[in-house]
Amino acid sequence: MKEPFLAAVPVLTKLESAGYEAYFVGGAVRDFLLKKEINDIDIATSATPEEVKQIFSKTVDVGIEHGTVLVLYQNQSYEITTFRTEAEYEDYRRPKAVSFIRSLKEDLQRRDFTMNAIAMDKDGNLIDPFHGELSIKNQVIQTVGKATDRFQEDALRMMRAVRFVSQLSFRIEEETLTALEDLVHLLGKIAIERKQSEFDKLLSGDNRKQALQLILQTKIYLYLPGLSNQEESLKLILEYKFDRLTTREMWALLVYCLKLKNKEIEEFLRGWRMPLKEIREIQLIMHYLNKRFEVNWSSYDLYEATQEIFLSAEVLYLVINGFESNDSIQHYIQIYEGLPIKARSEMDVTGNDLMEWFNKSGGPWVKELLLKVEQAILAGSLVNNKKNIKEWLTECNHN
Ligand code: ATP
Ligand code: MG
Repeated sequence: MKEPFLAAVPVLTKLESAGYEAYFVGGAVRDFLLKKEINDIDIATSATPEEVKQIFSKTVDVGIEHGTVLVLYQNQSYEITTFRTEAEYEDYRRPKAVSFIRSLKEDLQRRDFTMNAIAMDKDGNLIDPFHGELSIKNQVIQTVGKATDRFQEDALRMMRAVRFVSQLSFRIEEETLTALEDLVHLLGKIAIERKQSEFDKLLSGDNRKQALQLILQTKIYLYLPGLSNQEESLKLILEYKFDRLTTREMWALLVYCLKLKNKEIEEFLRGWRMPLKEIREIQLIMHYLNKRFEVNWSSYDLYEATQEIFLSAEVLYLVINGFESNDSIQHYIQIYEGLPIKARSEMDVTGNDLMEWFNKSGGPWVKELLLKVEQAILAGSLVNNKKNIKEWLTECNHN
């Protein structure tokens, strides 16, 4: 066993000493067997949420109705979920109610794919009734039990299958894929937030090109916000070599392929329930990208955009043009680094200074004058210190 499991072993031991069973489960065990970096550690236990809360002093109720308690232990947090079944499914979505049980095997049985249905005890022994280790070895994504049943219980699993194709570069086992193709319409019942989370992970995976191909091939796109009539745009995105893009830049590339204008970008991303802050960032990236198609950016553009935004816009520009070289990125970084100021707050003058110097009360003139000063500083014709700025303003009669 290795970190971060080692640090979590005492959590299992505590549960066991109190008379319960406890195991590592889910993605952490899978990623451990794959020798991949492990994100968060999930623990399954026979203890009920109430029982878990009695054992640990620091807990947070994050999803008690699903049996999940977040336990804070030695500066780490662990999601501890009571063994459960999801007996009744309503409307192809999550279960109506969960029943807590005392059997690990039944808990593993309710999990989506064999590779995600492996438990590991505190000594590193695997409990693997559905041969998940073999699936991992063969790199296949296969449902636990009959695929058609499992996708009817919760249609989101179909999208999860494709997102794992992206993250793990595994293939979807045949029966599972056939069931997916047959039942894809059930995705119409699934909440957008749940689809968003899977799609975002899909866009971040190493094998995202193939996963996007599957989104087309299986017709999942018909049930995704703003994409149902966008087969051609989705084909377009596959033409690009987008290996070097971040997840956010992938969203921007998608927006580019959909040929959306400013307002439409917001509408599309709101449709995906993306937070407004992230929508604004993508709109900014698209604004500078569009400008870049027309002209080279000025140093004022770089300043206004900020480094984070213009770097994203430039890398998109390169990908869309099929340019491999990063020279232009270096070029723009160099100009940016040479800027006398990087933000308005770095100017050595404030609106209050102006009002005091000119003995005038506030008004639109303050903002206008600050803008002139800012432009002069960025153009290199004015040195950014208070004394110079004051002189420059009086000399030029800018008041
Ligand atoms: P990640 O690395 O993205 O966290 P993960 O496999 O841990 O991948 P989670 O969404 O964190 O995925 O879910 C944790 C575990 O819960 C899964 O490994 C799986 O066993 C189970 N699970 C999650 N979602 C479902 C679902 N819709 N149906 C059945 N089991 C699920
Ligand atoms: Mg997880």
